Amino acid sequence: MSARLDHQQVLDTIRSCLPADHQSAALHEPLFLGNEWKYVKDCIDTGWVSTAGEYVGRFEKMLAEYTGAKYAVAAVNGTAALHICLLVAGVRAGDEVLIPSLTFIATANAVNYCGAIPHFADSEERTLGLDPAALAVYLRDIAELRDGVCINRKTGRVIRAVMPMHTFGHPVDMDPLVDLCEEIHLALVEDAAESVGSYYKGRHTGLQGVIAGLSFNGNKTVTTGGGGAIITNDEKLARRAKHLTTTARTPRGYEFVHDEVGFNYRLPNLNAALGVAQLEELPAFVARKRRLTARYAAAFRGVSGARMFTEAPFAKSNYWLNVLLLDESDVRARNALLDFLNANGIGARPVWNLMHELPLYADCPRMNLPVATNLAARIVNIPSSVFLSD
Ligand SMILES: *Cc1c(COP(=O)(O)O)cnc(C)c1O
Repeated sequence: MSARLDHQQVLDTIRSCLPADHQSAALHEPLFLGNEWKYVKDCIDTGWVSTAGEYVGRFEKMLAEYTGAKYAVAAVNGTAALHICLLVAGVRAGDEVLIPSLTFIATANAVNYCGAIPHFADSEERTLGLDPAALAVYLRDIAELRDGVCINRKTGRVIRAVMPMHTFGHPVDMDPLVDLCEEIHLALVEDAAESVGSYYKGRHTGLQGVIAGLSFNGNKTVTTGGGGAIITNDEKLARRAKHLTTTARTPRGYEFVHDEVGFNYRLPNLNAALGVAQLEELPAFVARKRRLTARYAAAFRGVSGARMFTEAPFAKSNYWLNVLLLDESDVRARNALLDFLNANGIGARPVWNLMHELPLYADCPRMNLPVATNLAARIVNIPSSVFLSD
């Protein structure tokens, strides 16, 4: 069908896009060139290293300003943020939550932490994320509204929510998903862990649904070391998220009063200090990442058997991790390329194994997943660090 991939040509093409002093490059490394050391040192100098400290509030305020969200609540990592998002959106034990099978395991685990069941949906090649049209067709077949609640007729369980994930920074086509969720009464919660700095139709990702979780892990576009956040425009949800992430303690002077089982999910000040410095750099980082991708995309036009994945017309992506999309869906051919690139000092990796193929989630309900299955064997991530754009 397609021309055979020339490994040496792929390697040379990648290298032609990298600076002369980075002809070997890891997949993604953080970059600290602003106030990171100054702010972290300030935490140590003043003794404010843990969850009480002014950088946590500053980080939340900056994040709300940058994304345009009314509220931001910092969390200890992205997985914890997603857990809280699902809880405050109303997900309960025994519910089903629709998520893509093509995602990092945190999406599925967050559902599991609620005692809920992941229900796997297919992806589309245009966005690498959830396919709203295929999902609508599927749900019209297996689901129905009973007393205003969406029921899976096959399992008898409530389908409570949908959690799309913006893969490698590329926004899912949200408008049709918003419509579908309104029609069949599903809570729309976004896994925006990878899409800090990505926009859907001019609006930051994470604000199309009711609430969203972000990640600031060490390999993400900007980092707090480990960390995450929740963003929402809903005051009640924001207040409840803050409450649940801070052990559900109610203010009562010196006393320790907790009104439910909460979580110790608050981000420490040390991490928030790093985050404040990183958020100062974020607009410049996104611009540089987009430049690197443009360079890759132009260079790979001359290569047969693969192309660079680029954003949909409605999207402005942060291009967190660059995607070289192979023509052929063949795991062995993909792995041979990965072996060759890594042996030559180019950090490259495949996309995650599909969630429904992991033994721990193999028994979960799912729709047919032809596109996710096809994409899983074709995606190769190549070096994407901000400083590679120099
Ligand atoms: C990074 C990531 C998360 C959150 O990860 P943490 O390491 O817990 O911050 C969640 N979902 C996806 C898709 C991710 O890539």
